[in-house]
Amino acid sequence: MEPTEPRPNSECQGSCIPKVDLSNHPCYSRAAHFRFGRIHVPVAPRCNIQCNYCIRKYACPNENRPGVTMRVISPDEAMNTIRDAVAKEPRIRVLGVAGPGDALANDPTIETFARAKEEFPQLTRCMSTNGLLLPDRIDDIDRAGVTALTITINAVDPAIGEQIYAHVRYKGVTYRGREAFALLHRQQMEGLREAAMRGMVVKVNSVLIPGVNDRHLVEVARKVRDLGAYIMNIIPMLPLAKFKDIPEPSLADVNRVRNECGQIIQQFRNCTRCRADAIGVPGEEGSGCGAGAGAAKEKTCTPKFMGGKAIVRLKPTDPI
Ligand code: SF4
Repeated sequence: MEPTEPRPNSECQGSCIPKVDLSNHPCYSRAAHFRFGRIHVPVAPRCNIQCNYCIRKYACPNENRPGVTMRVISPDEAMNTIRDAVAKEPRIRVLGVAGPGDALANDPTIETFARAKEEFPQLTRCMSTNGLLLPDRIDDIDRAGVTALTITINAVDPAIGEQIYAHVRYKGVTYRGREAFALLHRQQMEGLREAAMRGMVVKVNSVLIPGVNDRHLVEVARKVRDLGAYIMNIIPMLPLAKFKDIPEPSLADVNRVRNECGQIIQQFRNCTRCRADAIGVPGEEGSGCGAGAGAAKEKTCTPKFMGGKAIVRLKPTDPI
């Protein structure tokens, strides 16, 4: 499959006319990060690609990283959770779907946003995706009122990209190697340009993988800026899965790459890699979950601001 490159985004409306008040979005604004809250509802279990650094098998209440949730919830449960959370924590300004799989590979994502648009119009709707389905579903998310979009883009060069992804599954076909990356890359670039053209504010997350893309992220920065991305968030890789033997990048390395990319596009430097079920103001939420009474049989999700009241009741058998 030959990837076709989208045109550079000369008419981009994304960075020029953002639809979102970013001053109270904790994932876009440094000033907002410790002042305002977000609620991530874990309605999206499936993923359509396999990144070599990603593992989503565990539901550990003490682990604080993307891809982790105590359980997956339905749109109905998500609405109840949002209702409860915004009533107790008025600083919550953002509703996000950030996994634990890919938001766009799961229809409950769209349903949840569409319902939240009616009931909680005051919340900014924010979605994270690997971008594979972005051109196909851009109308759906636009209609559902998503205005802040995060796309994880780790490479723009096939020689580097093929090292990062084990496979990509699209329309019932599984792609591997360079062909898989070519497809993902084409979809990401088209999706980014289209989202920016519609006035969504696009943040690009890039996972910094030492020895794989650490010298390449400058090129990523240039490309995504040209297509209309507003901000970039470079996230140090956690050594997991196939990349478990690659050491985590040092703070000095992360800062060096952020500084280089910062010459090209604005950098967000406060992200601490939230869980897919994080709720509250970053840093105050007690990492989302803790053990409730009868923890061996059942656990409860109890962010600190909920005053000890469970918002989600967890059973040991709940799938993720
Ligand atoms: S840690 Fe990252 S994902 Fe979590 S609120 Fe901050 S910027 Fe958003």
